[in-house]
Amino acid sequence: MSIARSLLLRASRSEWLAQQFRRRQFARRAVRRFMPGEDLDAALGASGELAAAGLGTVLTQLGEQVRSGAEAQAVRDHYLGVIDQLRERFLPAHVSVKLTHLGLDVGRDACVRHVLALAAKAREEGSFLWIDMEESRYVDATLQIYRRARAEGAGVGVCLQAYLRRTPHDLTALLPLAPAIRLVKGAYNESGEIALRRKKDVDAQYFTLAVRLLDAAATGRATPVFGTHDVRMLERIREWSVARGAAGRYEVHMLYGIRAAEQRALVAAEVKVRVLISYGSHWFAWYMRRLAERPANVWFVIRSLF
Ligand SMILES: Cc1cc2nc3c(=O)[nH]c(=O)nc-3n(C[C@H](O)[C@H](O)[C@H](O)COP(=O)(O)OP(=O)(O)OC[C@H]3O[C@@H](n4cnc5c(N)ncnc54)[C@H](O)[C@@H]3O)c2cc1C
Repeated sequence: MSIARSLLLRASRSEWLAQQFRRRQFARRAVRRFMPGEDLDAALGASGELAAAGLGTVLTQLGEQVRSGAEAQAVRDHYLGVIDQLRERFLPAHVSVKLTHLGLDVGRDACVRHVLALAAKAREEGSFLWIDMEESRYVDATLQIYRRARAEGAGVGVCLQAYLRRTPHDLTALLPLAPAIRLVKGAYNESGEIALRRKKDVDAQYFTLAVRLLDAAATGRATPVFGTHDVRMLERIREWSVARGAAGRYEVHMLYGIRAAEQRALVAAEVKVRVLISYGSHWFAWYMRRLAERPANVWFVIRSLF
């Protein structure tokens, strides 16, 4: 991991920096590159525009590690309202949640109830609930809650991070459920004991996991989503899917504002693509992770100063 990436990821957990950044106009300008706006309406508007161009979307309200049950309940209510709005506007959109935003640190039982309520609502309204994966200390709880939600029915998927050493085992354990899995490389600051540190190794593990998911998808035993902007990786995945009879059995998800031209090129090549749209005022930690993924992005922040 580069020093710049490591510093940016450490900075992402600074409350003081978050307060400084949120107040500054230049920072708000820079953030707009990755989000259509802070409020839900901006996200719904962008979702409509993308739908017109043949792209689905996934909406997520920014926020994590809430500290009270009331905050978590408000987040659940917010998402219940979002799912209603998606139906009313006929938007081909899903929602994605972070369990610590739904109160995982405050009370596990309440968090499970919130997830079950959202999964049921998404199923009812023809949407889909995605569960993000956060730092490694949350992986066990996240996978247990995912299993609990799947026991109630389909319509819910979970993210797995290719950089974690444990992920091949987690995938083995999940496959009997015929799971919906969004495979990503991983965005947090993890130690070498827990996560692969070299990009080359993460990429290799990503492809190995992708192959396992595609082979399961070929016989209807998994619904894979590849959450990556790595176009070379996506080309390898496409080739494998064709060779193994899994073409058309996966989706590609990318973040709003990143590789927009490639998103459209994939749609033209008949790949199902969704764009993950983030919104909300708690963007600091999330934005720092986007800078860490490509430290060259820091130049956009500097340019926004002027
Ligand atoms: C839909 C989606 C959901 C995600 N959910 C989670 C999650 O729940 N948990 C989690 O830990 N991580 C999540 N991530 C983030 C993920 O772990 C990676 O940090 C992120 O996707 C960057 O890795 P990459 O796969 O795009 O590949 P990389 O090899 O890092 O990047 C490939 C190329 O994409 C471009 N690129 C990548 N990131 C950026 C950026 N920020 N700005 C500009 N260009 C960029 C660059 O051109 C780069 O060369 C998610 C990512 C996506 C797309």
